[in-house]
Amino acid sequence: MPIKVLESEVVAKIAAGEVIERPASVVKELIENSLDAGATQIAVEAQGGGVELIKVSDNGEGIPASELALAFHRYATSKIDNLDDLEKISSLGFRGEALPSIAAVAEVEISTQTSSAPIGSYLHLRKGDVVGKESRARPQGTTVTVRRLFRYFPARLKFLKSVNTENSHIAHLVSQYALAFPEVKFSLVLDKRPSLRTTGNGDLREVVNEIYGSEVAQRMLKVEQKDSLAKVGGLTSPPSLARSNRNYLSFFVNRRWVRSPLLTRATEEAYRGLLMDGQHPMAVINISLPAQELDVNVHPAKAQIKFCHEQTVFSSVQKAIEEVLAKTPIASPKTVPFSVGSGQWQSPRMIMDNEPAFVVAQLPTMELPVLRVLGQLVNTYIIAEGPDGLYLIDQHAAHERILYDRILAQWAQKEVEVQGLLQPITIELSPREEETLRASKEFLAEFGFTIEPFGNRSYVIRAIPALMARANIIEIISALLDNLASKQSPNPWEEKIAQSLACHGAIRAGQQLGNEEMRELIKQLEQTKQPRACPHGRPTMIHLSSHQLEKEFGRIS
Ligand code: ADP
Ligand code: MG
Repeated sequence: MPIKVLESEVVAKIAAGEVIERPASVVKELIENSLDAGATQIAVEAQGGGVELIKVSDNGEGIPASELALAFHRYATSKIDNLDDLEKISSLGFRGEALPSIAAVAEVEISTQTSSAPIGSYLHLRKGDVVGKESRARPQGTTVTVRRLFRYFPARLKFLKSVNTENSHIAHLVSQYALAFPEVKFSLVLDKRPSLRTTGNGDLREVVNEIYGSEVAQRMLKVEQKDSLAKVGGLTSPPSLARSNRNYLSFFVNRRWVRSPLLTRATEEAYRGLLMDGQHPMAVINISLPAQELDVNVHPAKAQIKFCHEQTVFSSVQKAIEEVLAKTPIASPKTVPFSVGSGQWQSPRMIMDNEPAFVVAQLPTMELPVLRVLGQLVNTYIIAEGPDGLYLIDQHAAHERILYDRILAQWAQKEVEVQGLLQPITIELSPREEETLRASKEFLAEFGFTIEPFGNRSYVIRAIPALMARANIIEIISALLDNLASKQSPNPWEEKIAQSLACHGAIRAGQQLGNEEMRELIKQLEQTKQPRACPHGRPTMIHLSSHQLEKEFGRIS
């Protein structure tokens, strides 16, 4: 085919594809418009995962009737004027792409009223064309209603996940904007159920309370730092409040919600040595810097930004959080200050009794010989002796393997051993987690978790799988909900969930074990299918054969 310039309708759809990836993208663009219009109240409603209906109402400045149709033209914006403006953007939107993109992939109605106009105006668009237009009274502000999203885009519709997954994306997104704008009163209703409501009183901790619950809100530490480049503020978790994934990290740069590996690393760097492997902090971090210090025009959905001085921003954030953590007394350090080559180490704790600590494998597994436990090294590795040399066993990896095999075996036989909790645990779920829980109740019951609603986004955990008795239940539930939210086809995700449960249920590195516990652990390890590797494929043990030892010591050459 010869080269030609595409028709504007095709161009619009291509652009829409970049801006509007899924229903939550529509919600994002509409909320940003409301915020740019100075709204102090934003009500969001979605049905059917946002495919049936998305409605965002605000009390912002409104759009003059004479400009309403123009707002749906590509590159029509009231927010920037010239090239200079593009260099120092302070609004969330600036490309004039959102409304035309949404109108290109859905049916849109908009009603709006400014403070000066005698009456408001209304516009109805289908496939990007105006099909209805009239004057309509309403209070000051704007309401955009989006229906039948992607109806004419079967490929995109097919790509969307379940209603619950899309709802949970929307819930997460609205939560993020609520965190970014505590002075704005947000409400979210999903399939007619109230999901989130903030007061708009400007107190970030209160928003955190609404989203993550009162325990988190009470324990989060205040961050407040200013250096020559940036101001860093917000809330960050004490090390004892860790989570098993990064879903609880929110970053806002000049009030724009961004996903930034740089900021994530800077935050996690501040927690280095304070969290166990696989744990992540919770944080809501606001960074303000001069508009010229960043480029927001690098991503179609404006979800990423580029800092002019990345390194400086990195250390501003790291330092701001480190400073807060340094002032926080840490009740019980959970990690052992041990890293290879650092010079810090603990001497091996040897078993002093003379009792022959032989462990006899009950099944003749091909893999492990009979091992005699000698002791524990840095509360992390079990030292054992076998017929052919020395074994160093990673207690966490070994226990993970044991639990993983058992979990899968119990699931396969549909006989999950359940343990009721004498003292039920209450957890508070975020709006997103609540959506996932609602969709996954049966799975969770099958896996051995009994979780009951307790009102106001609180839930009571009454029973857990017996194999998880050692685990931090709140972390497990959050990991589980995270896995369930992103689940794809049946098989891999069951394995993934089993992996995650095993990881959380397993003895941690740094935990002191008694002799009997170590013997039991090795005995159980011997009965697994693959005692030499943990479910993630990492080795559970290092073997130094007698031959290797003799060679290392120069006894033989
Ligand atoms: P952009 O936000 O990049 O300017 P949009 O397509 O999202 O582009 O919106 C186009 C224009 O419509 C905006 O510049 C603004 O003037 C107007 N607009 C859109 N939504 C609202 C709203 N909720 N309140 C007031 N004005 C709005
Ligand atoms: Mg916009």
